[in-house]
Amino acid sequence: MQSKIKGALIMVVAVTRPTRIKISQAAVTHNVAVTRQASGAKFMFLAVKANAYGFGLIPMAQAAIKAGVDGLAVAVLDEALALRQAGITVPIIILGITLPQYAKLIADNDLIATVSDLDWLQAAQQNLAGSQSTLQVNLGVDTGMGRIGFRNRESLSEAITYLASQPIFFKYQSIMTHFSESDSLATDYFQKQLSNWHRLTDGLPMPPMVHLANSGAAMYHADEIPTDYIRAGTVVYGIEPSRGEVLPDNYLKPVLTLETELIFVKQMPANVGISYGHTYYTHEGEWVGTVPIGYADGLPRPIQGFEVLVNGQKAPIIGQIAMDQLMISLPEKLPVGTVVTIIGKQGQYENTLEDVAQHVGLAPWVVATGLQDRLMRVLVD
Ligand SMILES: *Cc1c(COP(=O)(O)O)cnc(C)c1O
Repeated sequence: MQSKIKGALIMVVAVTRPTRIKISQAAVTHNVAVTRQASGAKFMFLAVKANAYGFGLIPMAQAAIKAGVDGLAVAVLDEALALRQAGITVPIIILGITLPQYAKLIADNDLIATVSDLDWLQAAQQNLAGSQSTLQVNLGVDTGMGRIGFRNRESLSEAITYLASQPIFFKYQSIMTHFSESDSLATDYFQKQLSNWHRLTDGLPMPPMVHLANSGAAMYHADEIPTDYIRAGTVVYGIEPSRGEVLPDNYLKPVLTLETELIFVKQMPANVGISYGHTYYTHEGEWVGTVPIGYADGLPRPIQGFEVLVNGQKAPIIGQIAMDQLMISLPEKLPVGTVVTIIGKQGQYENTLEDVAQHVGLAPWVVATGLQDRLMRVLVD
């Protein structure tokens, strides 16, 4: 293994601040198991692109491997190199297109490159000349996502023939397509993409790994597609792609807890403005807690008014959240160091990622991918 990219790799993770993301191994294990069961997939790749959807690249990869996932999928080469540097040896697919001048680096690190045209293969071959390693190729097929991939049978067939003619440089390891509408039961467009897949690929030589399904396709369309291999993300993170329309309640388990602690507590007189722009005024004797997390950590600013959990009770976020801190209205006097749960469970209450997402008007995976590197991530049981 080698990786010779020099880049700006400095990032700050705040480990001295009492604010953390906890990733539940038990929840990941559960979600992997139910996804396997529902999809009937023999082999499962977990999408860990974008810092594992914001959950944390390394803890999520470790949890998923412990849960029996067979491989990982990333968007960019750097994410794959970070996994290799962390000692992770399972197969890794780079789902996006990497510049062909990195072909040797991809091959040397035993990664799988996604390819969309013959030109890329020819450029990559220049880069691989003199290399000891063979590049594993994943051919992308565009059946209607309109993003990357071969769009017609002739060009796909030509690429497959080319790969077969260059066994020193390439291994035809994998082929895939991606659905643009798989997140509910009823989609004509899903069926159209599936028939495009058959039209483009039936009768062509197939590699060892053939994978079509993301979470939605794996959970809702398992009977209609070949599901030896799936590439799932959303469901393993405990989020239902259709946002709760199809799967039974509690079928998936929430994976992420976002918690912090009271770092400062004070009692206020009436009518004191809180935070920038004074969008909130205190009432007489109100106990106000300050917690060390803000929009620079990825909390969307419209989260004002959302009720976090403290001492088993609900406590609303008051005033505009600041870059690094926010204030909550406490139900009573509570000591500094009391745990404040933004996402997660306390006593009889539970806040989910979906609850936060709904409050701020975003999709749950958009909120999650916004969670910044500064937040410490820990894997717990
Ligand atoms: C992100 C991604 C996935 C995983 O999608 P989910 O809907 O989160 O399961 C699968 N395949 C490709 C190509 C992706 O980009």
